[in-house]
Amino acid sequence: MIPIEQAFQLIDEHVTRLPPTRLPLASSVGSVLANDIHSDVNSPPHDKSMMDGFAVMSDDVNDGKNNLSIVETIIAGDWPQHALESGQASRIMTGAPLPKNADAVVMVEQTEVESTDSGQRVKLLIDSIAPEKNILRQGVNFQTGQTVLSRGHIVRATDIGLMAEVGAGDIPTREKPTVAVLPTGNELVDHHSKPLRGQIRNSNGPMLVALAQQFGLEVTDLGSSVDDPGQLADMISAGLKHDVLLLSGGVSAGTMDLVPGILKDLGVVEVFHKVAVKPGKPIWFGVNNCEGKKRYVFGLPGNPVSSLVGFHLFVRRTLEKLLGSQTAQIPSEYGELHTQHQTRGNRPTFWPAKRITNDQTVRRFEPLVWRGSSDLFALAEAQGLIRFQENSTVHPAGEKVEFFPFT
Ligand code: AMP
Ligand code: MG
Repeated sequence: MIPIEQAFQLIDEHVTRLPPTRLPLASSVGSVLANDIHSDVNSPPHDKSMMDGFAVMSDDVNDGKNNLSIVETIIAGDWPQHALESGQASRIMTGAPLPKNADAVVMVEQTEVESTDSGQRVKLLIDSIAPEKNILRQGVNFQTGQTVLSRGHIVRATDIGLMAEVGAGDIPTREKPTVAVLPTGNELVDHHSKPLRGQIRNSNGPMLVALAQQFGLEVTDLGSSVDDPGQLADMISAGLKHDVLLLSGGVSAGTMDLVPGILKDLGVVEVFHKVAVKPGKPIWFGVNNCEGKKRYVFGLPGNPVSSLVGFHLFVRRTLEKLLGSQTAQIPSEYGELHTQHQTRGNRPTFWPAKRITNDQTVRRFEPLVWRGSSDLFALAEAQGLIRFQENSTVHPAGEKVEFFPFT
């Protein structure tokens, strides 16, 4: 059994980031930018209206001119044809370019349109307006040539919108690892089935698939294997075609815990087995080096919360390193314990917890009622894990703690 920090260090040493590539915009969520992203446009591209209404010269309104002749209608996508002169207004829609000399937009709700012999006029129901009201000037968000996202940034869904706006089509990043998931155990049945005596539904499989998908990765669900050396060897071999293979179950010390032996037979070299962490101690990690291509294998313990904690502590770190992240670690938050908590045992414990939201500036985290590594029910409310140091002790409310958020 090794300490958790040593396990982190071993992962950092053994995991090599994948080669650079370019990904289509839509596939780049979760990837790490290999270069800065620059804009080829101003945002907004032109001075524009933020309201449906009438583009005016604010001096007119403030000088008491509240009945203006309408010279044109500008809808989004159009380009204005008339520069305003004193006494004139243009009907304008949200997003449409502002005509020359206009410096404010009066909301349509504050106007009345009248038809006269000499054309349409607008009566303003206000007697003053601040210059720049309801308009946005060209380039105030960002300008042509500006860096909008920096190298090393992990692409999130919102960044996709920004990169679309700046015309970034092929995103400079690194190859994404492919992931396969294979739970093991004689007792497992698919979640569509009703478990018979002695059976349990395979909850780890769908959960691990979903966790890896949260990183924007392609995940192959290999189903599950019984604790049979032949089937395990066949299915694990299939899994070794992927960059990362996540196994669950069969890595502890029982007579049916066959996974570590079979991985060794298949040429996967053990890096560590058993980490001083609760839950999740039996975790196994190894590397298979086949024709210059490295495959990373995790044997996660079968209990669902052990698998979950193993994923967040160790698998996530591995995926981020592969993707090219400079800071291969889960960002943690510091705050105070909301309620007293008793720890037991001689391993650091990661306890499901939620954030307490209140007006105070200090963050507070509340440890949830949790029955241990098989209890996923408690996790429904959890937003992350509080890390408690080893030893059995009472942690009083207000104690400083570190919290690892799930996302
Ligand atoms: P193991 O790590 O194989 O000794 O399994 C530890 C515990 O986790 C046992 O109670 C198993 O029934 C349970 N378990 C193993 N695999 C799964 C799974 N895929 N989904 C839910 N529970 C599991
Ligand atoms: Mg088992």
